[in-house]
Amino acid sequence: MSVYSKFGVDTIVNAKGTATRLSGGIMRPEVAQAMIEASRACVEIADLQAAASREIAKATGAEAGYVASGASACLLLGTAACIAGLDPGRMARLPDTRGMKNEVIMVRSQRNFYDHAIRAAGATIVEVGLPDRFAGAGVRDAEAWEIEDAITEKTAAIFYVMDALSQPPLPVVTAIAKRHKIPVLVDAAALLPPQSNLKRFIAEGADLVAFSGGKAIGGPQASGFLCGRRDLIMSAALQHLDLDIYEDMWSPPKSLIDKSKLKGTPQHGIGRSCKAGKEEIIGLLTALRLFIAEGDKVRHQRWLSLLETLAGSLPVFKAAEITIIHADDASAVPLLIASLKGKPDAAAAAMKKLIAGKPAIHTDPSLRHENRIIVNPLCLRPDDAGIVAAGLKRVLK
Ligand SMILES: *Cc1c(COP(=O)(O)O)cnc(C)c1O
Repeated sequence: MSVYSKFGVDTIVNAKGTATRLSGGIMRPEVAQAMIEASRACVEIADLQAAASREIAKATGAEAGYVASGASACLLLGTAACIAGLDPGRMARLPDTRGMKNEVIMVRSQRNFYDHAIRAAGATIVEVGLPDRFAGAGVRDAEAWEIEDAITEKTAAIFYVMDALSQPPLPVVTAIAKRHKIPVLVDAAALLPPQSNLKRFIAEGADLVAFSGGKAIGGPQASGFLCGRRDLIMSAALQHLDLDIYEDMWSPPKSLIDKSKLKGTPQHGIGRSCKAGKEEIIGLLTALRLFIAEGDKVRHQRWLSLLETLAGSLPVFKAAEITIIHADDASAVPLLIASLKGKPDAAAAAMKKLIAGKPAIHTDPSLRHENRIIVNPLCLRPDDAGIVAAGLKRVLK
């Protein structure tokens, strides 16, 4: 009996990918086991975060790292770090940023719902660029000079949302930022694999990068990490850690927090509500090690095999064509696509039927207007291949 059924909740088959609304992915048994073991002993959280910092630094090539409750939490912490620096007074006043550098420059075409985390820290987003390439009316997006033009004495950071289409290229943006001594914060939440991306954005000059722990890394759903400059990570830590302490009794690990740089002891900061427990931190670090050890090739093959098993147990449909698409470089996630031939809304109708079944099967609806169903293997357990195949047979007959 599933633990969920004790509380009257049905489990689903997640063929959509690591969507938070579908509870993300499946942790490996080693990760779940590590979390159970972590739950059986107490530690000083600052010591554990200092260890996380070392581990994340090794994995990313950054000076330091930090774990919070998700990539979104890390964006809030990163912004708060860029605004407050190492000033405990500013930390205490956030999200009230009066009298501080509080503008975050962002390319208009990169605006998205997660930038709420940037605004939640007290920043005002200054949009640049007119992305008329997306309107179909033109070919341009934000250009480097426009970012430089938007920099003022109020600029706290440049926020960059990494994606294949993001313009201008990150190295161009970091070069401008360096000239003006402004930090660049990168949202790379979902950009793994390829695992080379763990190091790429730091190597391209980013000051802070946020990754999700609950996506392809396979860590706890409520985890994410920041990597980047030591002083900014120190500020993020100070605005996240529980600081219910007596000043004279406080001796944080120096590699994470250098007390000599502080004029006073900060209070609970704006990030206190983004808590990560010892179980999440250990779970994330364990998952990160396993993610790196597995490597892109083996991981790709594991996902591909699952889809091939699924496709192999499907008949030839009159109403749909089944294909598996995958990039040759083994860095992308392979996908199974069912292209439907019926009415224009046939794929959407079939996906609704899959969700209405027992167990509910959630597929990726993003190509429903092209009459396609996408099956993403990222959150499928080996046994799910048969369940998804049975579901597809039922709705595509
Ligand atoms: C998923 C995602 C986030 C949020 O990550 P969480 O770990 O769920 O907080 C932020 N930005 C982008 C681009 C994402 O895809």
